[in-house]
Amino acid sequence: MKVPLSEIPPEGLRISWGELERPHLEGPKGTLEEGMRLASPPKGGVLLKMTKRGLLCKGSIECSVWIHCARCLKEFRLPIKDEFEVIYVPLKEAPRQEEVELGTEDMDVGFLREDTVDLDELLSERIWLSLPMKPLCREDCKGLCPLCGKDLNEGDCGCSREVVDPRLAVLKELKTKLKG
Ligand SMILES: [Zn+2]
Ligand SMILES: [Zn+2]
Repeated sequence: MKVPLSEIPPEGLRISWGELERPHLEGPKGTLEEGMRLASPPKGGVLLKMTKRGLLCKGSIECSVWIHCARCLKEFRLPIKDEFEVIYVPLKEAPRQEEVELGTEDMDVGFLREDTVDLDELLSERIWLSLPMKPLCREDCKGLCPLCGKDLNEGDCGCSREVVDPRLAVLKELKTKLKG
């Protein structure tokens, strides 16, 4: 949904995510975000308000997405929760970057190419920014065996993956000697 800036009343315009179409979230092939899509409709919305500095977009999102686990590569539902405040400066009247950053310490700053704000873009951008560096299907996901590729969450594969640190091996030897 594209909202022309001229249609935003002085008191602001509130839009809930439910009014938008499903955002396009898919990432590039071969990444954990390949095939990423919403698993539950996004709750929350955004308040658009024109300010002296630009267009203020303040809102929240709660949803879940299908994404691949960084360890076992399986697709799982990742819950997402985000609260944001972004100020969009129209590109044609954009002051120098440094000037925008002054006084907007805790705010994200973006630029508007046109006289409209694209809310679908905002929604997918906010979801992308909320993704963890390493999405995990569960905190203790055991991942895949580096030797045979089996999902170790489903049980052990029997490969001998134990790599003994040579320094530890020396200590172990010493311990046995001392005991003896
Ligand atoms: Zn996993
Ligand atoms: Zn294995």
